Amino acid sequence: VWNNCLKVIRENIAEQSFKTWFEPIVPIRLFNNVLTIQVPSQFFYEWLEEHYVHVLRTAIDAELGVEGRLEYSIVIDKGNEKNKPYVINIPTSSKTTANSMVKENRYTNTAQNEGYKSPFELRDLDSLHLASYLNPHYTFDNFIEGDCNRLARSAGYAVANKPGVTSFNPLMLYGGVGLGKTHLVQAIGNHIKNTASNKFVLYVSSEKFTNQFIDALKNNNMQNFTNFYLQVDVLVIDDVQFLAGKERTQEIFFHIFNHLHQAGKQIIMTSDCPPRELKGLQDRLLSRFKWGLTADLQQPDLETRIAIIQKKLQTEGIFIPPMVIEYLAHSVDTNIRELEGVIVSLMAQASLNRKEIDMDLARQTLQNIVQHVDKEVSIEAIQKKVVDHFGLSLEELKGKSRRKEYVIPRQIAVYLAKEHTEHSLKSIGYHFGGRDHSTIIHAIQSVNDMLKTEQEVKSAIQAIQKQLKLKVTK
Ligand code: ADP
Ligand code: MG
Repeated sequence: VWNNCLKVIRENIAEQSFKTWFEPIVPIRLFNNVLTIQVPSQFFYEWLEEHYVHVLRTAIDAELGVEGRLEYSIVIDKGNEKNKPYVINIPTSSKTTANSMVKENRYTNTAQNEGYKSPFELRDLDSLHLASYLNPHYTFDNFIEGDCNRLARSAGYAVANKPGVTSFNPLMLYGGVGLGKTHLVQAIGNHIKNTASNKFVLYVSSEKFTNQFIDALKNNNMQNFTNFYLQVDVLVIDDVQFLAGKERTQEIFFHIFNHLHQAGKQIIMTSDCPPRELKGLQDRLLSRFKWGLTADLQQPDLETRIAIIQKKLQTEGIFIPPMVIEYLAHSVDTNIRELEGVIVSLMAQASLNRKEIDMDLARQTLQNIVQHVDKEVSIEAIQKKVVDHFGLSLEELKGKSRRKEYVIPRQIAVYLAKEHTEHSLKSIGYHFGGRDHSTIIHAIQSVNDMLKTEQEVKSAIQAIQKQLKLKVTK
């Protein structure tokens, strides 16, 4: 059955992704229409859920019909003596489920919450008693501190030690996707749970809150719904931007918020943008958010990215040469989720091909992943096309020679990297033999000048852009 599923999947995704994400999966059993597959790690599972849940569904539907179900078995802490797998159930024919819900609902326990039917079940007894819906993997210990998150982290830590007592109430953390908001607020929740076990900590995504509210309305269960929330000592509500435009949900949230706040209970929120930019949220709610402390999470700088990779590798018990770590940290500077994805993919590639993780493998993996995820071209791909176009070698392109036949292609490649990737000047410099950022600026300026006067340069750039299917400079 799994082999047939794989056939369906293969038709639907790129070969490279198939190799990385589906070949390492081990089918374990098929029983009562439930197919269990084993995946190597938690990250692997998350990545599958985030990127391939629809493909999986299609495959399972085709093979087992709508009754068919898929279970993941995850080997936690590979190499650790515990090695306790747990199993996550996803139904294959749920139409309502968006990817994000899959993630958010991972720790949902349906029995805890009458009326709210999660389409997912988690069958790990250890997690089942977690009425808090906190993921114990998110801790302060494994949250790397850097300039990008220092204020948020220390405010979070203060709140974690004195919930409801500091003036950081509510604590509002905001920042772009994949920068650690959920990790940090869950770490606060876990810390409180572990140090003040009498406190009822509840983590809920705004999406789930909304769904629960709608269900309560439908089932005439409002009393239960509100009572449930009024018992909470520490309310962590994730991604409040999701409440935008949902007037009635905001109303009930306003009510709960006021009640908890007055009772000295701690409220912790996250949002993907600063409160003042939260469109579609009632002013009276926004003004409440300003009572406490607002802190942002920014893009991690290079050093933080390196530290995050090192921590991650240490946790997984994997060794990667420092040079490769640096290369990865330079290449993936968008967000931490992406960075982790690349590392997982690299580990998958290495174990699959029984290879050591070296520069070659890193380059190769990154090229595929980054292109695939961002739908953006990689610096490597640009360099390759440029050297092909001009008949140079990569060494000549990146080298130190000031000869005109090298300098112009080099500048063109830099220009294209700046135009078509998200890389910073510093990162581009790194990919061009460690040039500093003023050299990079100079290169870009030269190309801009040449574009006005040198038709040959312009045509070369346009030809390369066409080959890479990029937007062509006019
Ligand atoms: P967000 O909620 O802002 O979208 P997440 O909290 O889900 O982002 O973070 C994405 C991933 O990056 C998670 O796996 C998280 O553990 C990891 N992560 C984020 N920030 C850090 C950090 N400072 N140190 C270690 N891991 C981090
Ligand atoms: Mg989040």
